[in-house]
Amino acid sequence: MSQDTRGAGRFAPSPSGDLHVGNIRTGVLAFLCARQSGRLFRWRIEDLDRVQEGAADRQLADLEGCGVVIDPPVLVQSTRTEVYSRYLADLARAGLTYECYCSRREIQAAPSAPHHPPGAYPGTCRDLPESVRAAARERLATQGRSPAIRLRSALSAVTVTDDVLGEISGIVDDFVLRRGDGVFAYNLAVVVDDGESGIDQVVRADDLASSAPRQAYLARLLGFEPPRYVHVPLVLSPSGSRLAKRDGAVTLSDLAPFGFDLWDWLGRSCGFGPWTGMEQALAEFSLPRLHRGPVVFTPPDGVDSA
Ligand code: GLU
Repeated sequence: MSQDTRGAGRFAPSPSGDLHVGNIRTGVLAFLCARQSGRLFRWRIEDLDRVQEGAADRQLADLEGCGVVIDPPVLVQSTRTEVYSRYLADLARAGLTYECYCSRREIQAAPSAPHHPPGAYPGTCRDLPESVRAAARERLATQGRSPAIRLRSALSAVTVTDDVLGEISGIVDDFVLRRGDGVFAYNLAVVVDDGESGIDQVVRADDLASSAPRQAYLARLLGFEPPRYVHVPLVLSPSGSRLAKRDGAVTLSDLAPFGFDLWDWLGRSCGFGPWTGMEQALAEFSLPRLHRGPVVFTPPDGVDSA
């Protein structure tokens, strides 16, 4: 696939609903970082899960309406299962995968492996003899389930450098590559897609920062150079949780009746003055000057969009 020497940034929302202003802020920042560093800018539809009819088109229209220019091709993950299968098969041939029969509840109940972060896979199915595997496969089949496929990782600490957060370190566990329901896991799809599209700059919200060591590790295994990471603050609601539709008027169409000035908010929330549009943002933005603290969006009163 395309390996333009200019490199590329990207925005990869899940089409589970309309973008809220926090998502739009992240997408605009990704575009600003890409353009200012002379990169292409790509769009990817992460529709392996949680799809709302029409949302992908509305998300794209909202960002293009802000002046974001997308370089083709747009990647649609649901059309790429054969590609993900190929990479998974390569890993399997190299002895780097294994079947996992654990339910989520079993994983939560298992004592966590020493030095591993909470939630890391404890390795229950890593070294099972074939006879035990055959019985476990059969047990799942009677429940209508299939095994998940996990990466057999080196279980070592991986550090990536992030242009905002500095160093992000994590122990890479045996994370899932294909789920028990047959859907390819987020981490595999992201790494394959970024690698094949020549993405060398990943700007996204910092709730995904802890995924970066796993993704960089997998990228190397698959023969890709990991991208530069730029994790920008996730936009929060006044209660301190991630901004969401239940918080009130948060999408551009919800906010239109309030005369909400998106660019004014974008410029101020990024630590610059009010902006009037993309042109000014492109002229003034610089990553080192981006406001690093938490960003809270307070929806205007009077709209019940629950
Ligand atoms: N699809 C993910 C989301 O909407 C973003 C994935 C990524 O940027 O790596 O949260």
